[in-house]
Amino acid sequence: REFDGIRLEKVREHVWEIPREGGMNVPARVLASEQLLEAIADDKTLQQLRNATHLPGIVEPAICMPDGHQGYGFPVGGVGAIDAEVGCISPGAIGYDINCGVRMVRTDLTYDDVRGREDELVEALFEAVPSGLGGGGVITGTADAIDGALERGVEWAVEAGYGIESDCTNCEDGGRRPDARPEFVSQKAKDRGRNQMGSLGSGNHFLEVQRVTDVFRPDVAEAYGLAADGIVVLIHCGSRGLGHQTCNDYLRRIEQTHGDLLAELPDKELAAAPAGSDLAEEYYGAMGACINFAWVNRQLITHRTREVFGEVFDADPIDDLGMTLLYDVAHNIGKKETHEVGVGPDGLPAVGNAVVDRTERDLYVHRKGATRAFPAGHEDVPAAYREVGQPVIIPGSMGAGSYVLRGGAASMDVSFGSTAHGAGRLMSRTQAKREFQGGDVRRELRDGQAIHVKAQSGATIAEEAPGVYKDVDEVVRVSDDLGIGDKVVRTFPVCNIKG
Ligand code: 5GP
Ligand code: MN
Ligand code: MN
Repeated sequence: REFDGIRLEKVREHVWEIPREGGMNVPARVLASEQLLEAIADDKTLQQLRNATHLPGIVEPAICMPDGHQGYGFPVGGVGAIDAEVGCISPGAIGYDINCGVRMVRTDLTYDDVRGREDELVEALFEAVPSGLGGGGVITGTADAIDGALERGVEWAVEAGYGIESDCTNCEDGGRRPDARPEFVSQKAKDRGRNQMGSLGSGNHFLEVQRVTDVFRPDVAEAYGLAADGIVVLIHCGSRGLGHQTCNDYLRRIEQTHGDLLAELPDKELAAAPAGSDLAEEYYGAMGACINFAWVNRQLITHRTREVFGEVFDADPIDDLGMTLLYDVAHNIGKKETHEVGVGPDGLPAVGNAVVDRTERDLYVHRKGATRAFPAGHEDVPAAYREVGQPVIIPGSMGAGSYVLRGGAASMDVSFGSTAHGAGRLMSRTQAKREFQGGDVRRELRDGQAIHVKAQSGATIAEEAPGVYKDVDEVVRVSDDLGIGDKVVRTFPVCNIKG
């Protein structure tokens, strides 16, 4: 297959390779079905993926997930594993919304308990959970609160009374990045986070009450505490203005300081700090602090959600309604991880075909619009799930299913322990507003599918209409077929609030 001058060779079912040529350090791979490949034929996804292979120290291969689409410099749905000793770190390959991610909260409620009360629930959630631009947060970010959140993540929130112990255990990295360095986050970024502690933000971020419609792997579903007809809550948001400002701060500084590296890259948006440089260390520490902030953000929203359910159902959210965290996982993140890679005669990551051996290396694994999907047995999977694999949460759209997967047995070999993060956008926001009308979409969802949506504006609903996203069932089918993330349950929206 050839798209816009980029040649793709089929390696096997759902695996397509852009062979190494010119300035590419390594080949790139697209994990997609024919149908999903067509969806990226006209945008810059493949070009951006190929550009990413020029980053120094990148390890074979650069990968685009089945839900991939074009982003800032680096595709959304991209995974770039780059050597942490002789490579670099690139903020654009992690994303502006640092630790944008999803968490799922379980409940003991069933769809019957909620049916007929959707309006009451959606109104109460919309009232209680800040969303949109402005609108403040669940708490006011005093200097102490900001510092606590940046330094200690969910641990801070739980100690401050906004959660329970298992909110830490059931979060990626226990809800706290060990290498967070709040002192490398600018005052301007902290100021932007101040009135956004516990807020969804706008557009694509949401809180959705869902019911479990299908169970594919009953043993894993049981380990996850999920059953057919059960009600769960899915929360999607990130680090708000604080993370955005941090990404921006470091992109500008890196462009200025490491212009020589930048000059060798095919796209300015891939600006990267060389491993070992001061800026690489500072960005990595600042990013870790933003990761913590985003976890606190989702934790504070969880706290509010529990309060709302407690009031609406006149019960204790934990003791009576069983509202514990299934899992929280990031999908815009960069982390040092150890993976086995091909090395050349010098013991460093091999360029091209020069592999003489395989050995473990520390890598900056950039996951942008990609979800960590560690398999059963991995020590970073919480003890409660270690035998079955890490929960992976894949939202679909406000009018389609979402999925819980488990990290698949092949994920370490195929995708540096990663899989997709959603259905993936099919069209731009501008195009979406031309094609859809918010009021109509809302009415159709309600009358046709019993989905109750409340958003800050009709434009948001149009921009996020189910039709702007790819087919999540197809994305998940590819992930499952490849064995990188296996289907556990499918859910369907009941109520949805959006910024
Ligand atoms: P992103 O983080 O790239 O903005 O979005 C992640 C994914 O969330 C999208 O690819 C899309 O599949 C999904 N998504 C967007 N809006 C909604 C929604 O309202 N409900 C659900 N369940 N999923 C959504
Ligand atoms: Mn986001
Ligand atoms: Mn996101």
